[in-house]
Amino acid sequence: MLIGSHVSMAGGLLGAAREAAGYGADTFMIYTGAPQNTVRKPVDRLKIPEGLAFMAENGLSDIVVHAPYIINLASPKPDTFHLAVSFLRKEIERTRAVGSGYLVLHPGSFTDRDAEFGLNRIIEGLNAALTDDEPPIICLETMAGKGSELGRTFAELWAIINGAERGGRLGVCFDTCHAHDAGYDVAGDFDGVMAEFDAVVGLERLKVFHLNGSLNPRGARKDRHANLGAGPDNPKGTDKLGKEAVWRAARSRYAEGRPLILETPWPTADRNYYKEEIAYLRGDDPAARIDTVSD
Ligand code: FE
Ligand code: FE
Ligand code: ZN
Repeated sequence: MLIGSHVSMAGGLLGAAREAAGYGADTFMIYTGAPQNTVRKPVDRLKIPEGLAFMAENGLSDIVVHAPYIINLASPKPDTFHLAVSFLRKEIERTRAVGSGYLVLHPGSFTDRDAEFGLNRIIEGLNAALTDDEPPIICLETMAGKGSELGRTFAELWAIINGAERGGRLGVCFDTCHAHDAGYDVAGDFDGVMAEFDAVVGLERLKVFHLNGSLNPRGARKDRHANLGAGPDNPKGTDKLGKEAVWRAARSRYAEGRPLILETPWPTADRNYYKEEIAYLRGDDPAARIDTVSD
């Protein structure tokens, strides 16, 4: 398995890798700066050589970068669209600089227009931002369909991949919370969901998994992550997807060789459950308790 979580880049790549090692991870995901804005440190201040050396010594590999939410390639506003294209270009360079092959991107939201407008705009933006250089693969994330978000259906993801001039540089990041919120039966029929993905997009495009529970019932289109198997005692709320569903996804043949990234909530400001959730997913018992009380 290649399993890990989102970790902080506050201490550069070295700090991120140390945090991941502390959770017993094999991989990790970072934002190169704050997820909500475009303020970025120059790459020579990201402790990249030290981070890569630490990763090699500690068996960490196949790391993932997540682009900031502020990139909206579907925006009808020229300023927002152009910022998205130019920032995506720079983010591709930073992803390459940290040695990552995967840049996860939310496809975009069409705001006051419609899906057709948004999909065409995303294709136009990707055509402008991508060159033939590889890596990274741009992994379009499966979205919950909150508001005017695109990428809720596999058909929308395929429309983007198929429409882009450099579709060969595009892949998909499958988020278990988002797909469940979008209406896919991740809990009841994961094989069926993957078969549908294969038919519409193709499993060879599947590059990364985000493993999360969901606070909402299937089809709610909300996008609120839950800790795996969280009950009513969890301050963030009860998991409506179920830890067994995420365990089955993580242990499935579809997950083999692909980075699996937890983005579960921190129940309190100073406490996450990444270490416990990783240990649970590595274990052979889907009914095992996730130890979320001891420290
Ligand atoms: Fe995301
Ligand atoms: Fe995600
Ligand atoms: Zn989400």
